[in-house]
Amino acid sequence: MLDERGINMVPVLKCVAGDSQIAKLFETLPFQCIAESRLNIISEHYGTLNYVMIKGATPSEISTLVSQTSMSIQTDINVIRRINLEAKKQNKRHQILLMVDWKDGREGLLTYEAVDYINEVMRMDHVFLKGLAFNFMCYRAMPPTEEDISYIEHFLNSVEQETGFIFTTISGGNSSMLTLAMYHDLGPINELRIGEALFRGYETAHNQRLPFLYDDAIELVGHIIEIKPRLNLSTHQPYMQALVDFGNLDTVVTEITPVDSKVKIVGSTSDLLLIDLDETHGYQIGDVMTFKLGYAALAHSMHAPHLSKRYLNDTGIDLMLENLNSTKENKILNRY
Ligand SMILES: *Cc1c(COP(=O)(O)O)cnc(C)c1O
Repeated sequence: MLDERGINMVPVLKCVAGDSQIAKLFETLPFQCIAESRLNIISEHYGTLNYVMIKGATPSEISTLVSQTSMSIQTDINVIRRINLEAKKQNKRHQILLMVDWKDGREGLLTYEAVDYINEVMRMDHVFLKGLAFNFMCYRAMPPTEEDISYIEHFLNSVEQETGFIFTTISGGNSSMLTLAMYHDLGPINELRIGEALFRGYETAHNQRLPFLYDDAIELVGHIIEIKPRLNLSTHQPYMQALVDFGNLDTVVTEITPVDSKVKIVGSTSDLLLIDLDETHGYQIGDVMTFKLGYAALAHSMHAPHLSKRYLNDTGIDLMLENLNSTKENKILNRY
């Protein structure tokens, strides 16, 4: 969909903790680069994957940032000056996108700083400005709107006029931009950085399911280790309780949902989940119980080194991908 609208998509892998099997899949897909927010994860894959760093760097990270990535999102002029010096030392080019804080309130230049920043970065000899980045719904729950798109367009026009710099990339946001992208023209935005939607199948502005994407690509599976009757202290009713062998250390329990809608989570401790089996009678010790994951649960579990991961290959999806790759190739051939 984004391709048809001339929007470049950058997959963001931070919620799968740089999982190398998943990262390797992206090598086989026609993306120019993938994005990560942790430099140590980028280092693990250095040499195999082309990464963009999407979080500003601390001074101690600059040397690794310059040697192991060719592009990053930056927000602080002192850090950018140091990146320029370091890139000169390493005889490298480093491209940056300047993040502008539009209304999310997390990171980025204040809009009135943009012109000064751009004027200075334009004069740098080893840092190259590729364009601007925007971000929505990371901190404040304020979805991007059509008005944002037209105000962004005005903003970009006046900055381009004042600096004489023409932006190559306008990286307009994350998964929260997808609903807008489906129904409206995104104007000057020609890139989106997509993480959550890719792995959970939801856009994040209104939490809507996205067509053609899976909401169960990554699931959490536990095993039942005990089933006994217990008393619910608020209702004074007995219920049949199963203990599942993971807990708060392994995921964010408030963000998981049992796939079996007849059972419900009644509580959790650091390493156990308490389940009310209700009217179900089929469960036995050793049985698996599967859960769908919200974003925090997904990210937390993927970062938990002691959870074992099992990868299932769906040949039907492989076929779909082959098709996607070949239609893309045809399109590229037709274009040039
Ligand atoms: C996490 C992140 C993204 C991806 O966000 P999703 O909501 O997962 O699509 C994009 N840009 C930046 C700067 C991020 O930190």
